[in-house]
Amino acid sequence: MSWAFTKGLHEIGNGQYAYLQPTGTWGYSNAGLVVDGDQSLLVDTLFDEKLTAEMLATMRAATGIGGSDVTTLVNTHANGDHTYGNRLIENAEIIASKAGAHEMEELPPAVMARMMEAAPSMGEVGEFFQYCFGDFDFAGITLRMPTKTFSGSLDVKVGDKDVHLVEVGPAHTLGDVLVYVPQDRVVYTGDILFVDGTPIMWAGPVDNWIRACDQIIEHDVDVVVPGHGPITDRAGVAVMRDYLIFVNEETRKRHAAGLSAEEAAFDIALGDYQSWGDFERIAVTVNTIYRGLNGDDSPADAAALFGLMSRLKKDRQR
Ligand SMILES: [Zn+2]
Repeated sequence: MSWAFTKGLHEIGNGQYAYLQPTGTWGYSNAGLVVDGDQSLLVDTLFDEKLTAEMLATMRAATGIGGSDVTTLVNTHANGDHTYGNRLIENAEIIASKAGAHEMEELPPAVMARMMEAAPSMGEVGEFFQYCFGDFDFAGITLRMPTKTFSGSLDVKVGDKDVHLVEVGPAHTLGDVLVYVPQDRVVYTGDILFVDGTPIMWAGPVDNWIRACDQIIEHDVDVVVPGHGPITDRAGVAVMRDYLIFVNEETRKRHAAGLSAEEAAFDIALGDYQSWGDFERIAVTVNTIYRGLNGDDSPADAAALFGLMSRLKKDRQR
């Protein structure tokens, strides 16, 4: 079965829904909805309250469930494009991994709003910020934080349905979580999966992320809803896993040859992967692999890496 990659709510069947936002580039994330009886579980909110309200209105029209009716919200990870709409889910218990919830404190919407205000005077990095995040409105948002956290795994009920939350991070971020609904053979992956777009590894290690992909592939699931891009199946997960394996191998070679992380990012020939959206994200993934190889456990320097992505994008498009 295949689903069109069009904006809006797509019914997977048996109370499973995906809300998709083409093209899936920076900030345009997906969400999921699991419904059984009068209970419902929302997988992630969107990058701002306007987009989240639009999604909730669409969900209410299709299912009768609006933001104030959702009983459980799961935030798959800390990034704002999966959490900044949380305040509109007024009554739900909000579940995240402990590591993910902790990471949410690092970049609240108010800081994002200030950064976007400063962007026009920030030169090249500011220009790239505006390209990535200029469509969204962060002003006035306060983040409703998780009310329940877990480490490892957590089983929850939505009506009679079992939902398994499995922590597979640190990988894309510090606390990535997969949301499995075994009886319907569906998994909502958050940003453990990007489809037709380039994954970006802020936290690593890359082996954790590759293992998370393998875990999905080994599961008895038919429908895979990624954090960004169209709905796919297990074969779609293998495609992105192979990209991570490729980048890991190419990066290790250049690390061994004494190149800097920046030189490595510019040096790797992407081949067919260059046609994926946002190919410049390789700069962040390479940098994170280098930090791992160097035993450097400091977090990614996001501002410097946005500058590097901007230069790499320009370089390849010349
Ligand atoms: Zn995302």
